[in-house]
Amino acid sequence: MELGISIYHNRLQMKCDVAIIGGGLAGLSLSIDLRKRGYSVVVIEKGNYPRHKVCGEYISMESHEYLYRLCPSLSQFSLPIITNFKLSSTGKTEFQAKLDLGGFGISRYLLEELLYKEATKLGVVFLLKCKALDIDYDKNDTTYRIKTISGDVTAKLVCNSTGRKSNFETNERETNVTGTNYVGIKYHVKIDRDPSFVEIHNFPGGYCGISGIEENKTCLCYIVNSKNLKLVDNSIIDLEKKFLYQNSNLKRIFLLPNSYSKNR
Ligand SMILES: Cc1cc2nc3c(=O)[nH]c(=O)nc-3n(C[C@H](O)[C@H](O)[C@H](O)COP(=O)(O)OP(=O)(O)OC[C@H]3O[C@@H](n4cnc5c(N)ncnc54)[C@H](O)[C@@H]3O)c2cc1C
Repeated sequence: MELGISIYHNRLQMKCDVAIIGGGLAGLSLSIDLRKRGYSVVVIEKGNYPRHKVCGEYISMESHEYLYRLCPSLSQFSLPIITNFKLSSTGKTEFQAKLDLGGFGISRYLLEELLYKEATKLGVVFLLKCKALDIDYDKNDTTYRIKTISGDVTAKLVCNSTGRKSNFETNERETNVTGTNYVGIKYHVKIDRDPSFVEIHNFPGGYCGISGIEENKTCLCYIVNSKNLKLVDNSIIDLEKKFLYQNSNLKRIFLLPNSYSKNR
């Protein structure tokens, strides 16, 4: 189907083969794949690009070939190849292993930006800063109508790739929610470490992942029970000192000389 765009009473009306709700990694990748197969594709994304997101930024080699095929501009970047794994706890227990498949590192900021540019180049249409509100199915027309804050999108197929926190949550998922809230913190730092390792270090109430990304930077990302943050009056520095530093590996890494970027 040819893409159709019109404005009716100041509201956008679009027609396409496939509407994808959510332009995260899944939605962006799918949009490129479908566009390359000749479908007209509209991505409805409530946010904008480029953007930082809390993420460990380690990608399994399982996806390497597919991602590079979807997005050839990835090969312009020298990305660290990760072949080793290290795990530690607050006790003396430590574990190291060679990874069977391994992975590579790239910031979420860069990966999403490259996928977005590739999709746009191929003719995927993006509705940005546009939240999808509801989906109706028209039995007579066998099409879906997605209501968004900016107008309606009609499509033969609709894909929900809205991630974990979605207004299209299914009942099954809702019943699996445990009730614990976690806070995620991420830094991009330049520190002296072996980039062939992805590391996971546990601490009371959470864990921290460490791995290399582009430009010899390291992604340092942790999640922690929000109750721990309340205990230190929402002070991130005190949180790190009180909980993360209980793991000697984290204390050493956090106290290394580095140039912190402001990407938290
Ligand atoms: C702390 C943390 C660390 C992680 N580290 C790693 C890692 O190192 N390696 C790894 O492989 N995975 C990691 N993950 C998992 C990874 O982030 C997810 O698997 C991945 O983001 C899923 O992609 P997605 O596109 O399905 O969802 P998302 O990336 O969540 O994208 C969903 C998109 O949908 C949009 N959206 C939602 N609702 C609407 C709506 N109604 N209308 C329009 N747009 C909407 C959102 O704005 C968002 O852009 C981590 C996750 C967390 C929380």
